[in-house]
Amino acid sequence: MTQTYVKILGVRIDKVDREEAYKRFLNLIKRDRVSVIYTPNTEIVMMAQKDEELKEILYNADLVVPDGVGLIYASKIHNLGLTERVAGIELMERMLKFCNSTKQSIYLLGAKEEICKSAAEKIHELYSNIEIKGYQSGYYSPEDEQKIIDTINELKPDLLFVAFGAPKQEKWIHHNKKILNCKVAMGVGGAFDVLSGTVKRAPKIFRNTGFEWLYRLLKNPTRFKRMLALPHFMLKVLLERDMKQ
Ligand code: UDP
Repeated sequence: MTQTYVKILGVRIDKVDREEAYKRFLNLIKRDRVSVIYTPNTEIVMMAQKDEELKEILYNADLVVPDGVGLIYASKIHNLGLTERVAGIELMERMLKFCNSTKQSIYLLGAKEEICKSAAEKIHELYSNIEIKGYQSGYYSPEDEQKIIDTINELKPDLLFVAFGAPKQEKWIHHNKKILNCKVAMGVGGAFDVLSGTVKRAPKIFRNTGFEWLYRLLKNPTRFKRMLALPHFMLKVLLERDMKQ
């Protein structure tokens, strides 16, 4: 059987393009247990170099899409077979369209209160058949955690989107997946910021040429330190002799 994932600097990335990622989601949502989707970029792969737990969590997920152009470059250099970037936000939008046409329900967990609320309103505006079971900001005290999980479980959303940023969202989903009452849980990073209109995605020209990271950097220079992960990643990839599938 051909391997369905590659390992980039030891991190599992599934060999999927946008179409295949969506098909895999369609299969996951049919299962009778919680499935988990993550969307790592080069920054997360670099985080996982120093965080074995994160590496394990990604390895044990149900779908891990390549959400960074650096991962595609790494695949080209080492001939691993990844063909295109699968942006988490785009996969999420397709999942929302699916939920809209099949009347599935969702819950939004994460981001600032106002952002989370306005992402929920925007989703309702765009996809009126989706039942938004609820939303909860990502800034709450640890004592409230169990109550939040209980609420989500009582509401039984089909899809749970978690937007705490990496690696917090991956760890949260992993640690709670056995007790969550949903079909699919997905880590979506800054997606609520984008959906709410608070943060604009890069124009198509930047996206299509693989420079979305540059646009984000120009818009928000405080990301500079985080962005250093990209050249560091490329250097490590170039120095890696044997990146096996
Ligand atoms: N966030 C949160 N709780 C936290 C830390 C972060 O809800 O304790 C939210 C933050 O407000 C933002 C998202 O997580 O909406 C992370 O966005 P970022 O752009 O860092 O994610 P990326 O897409 O780059 O992984």
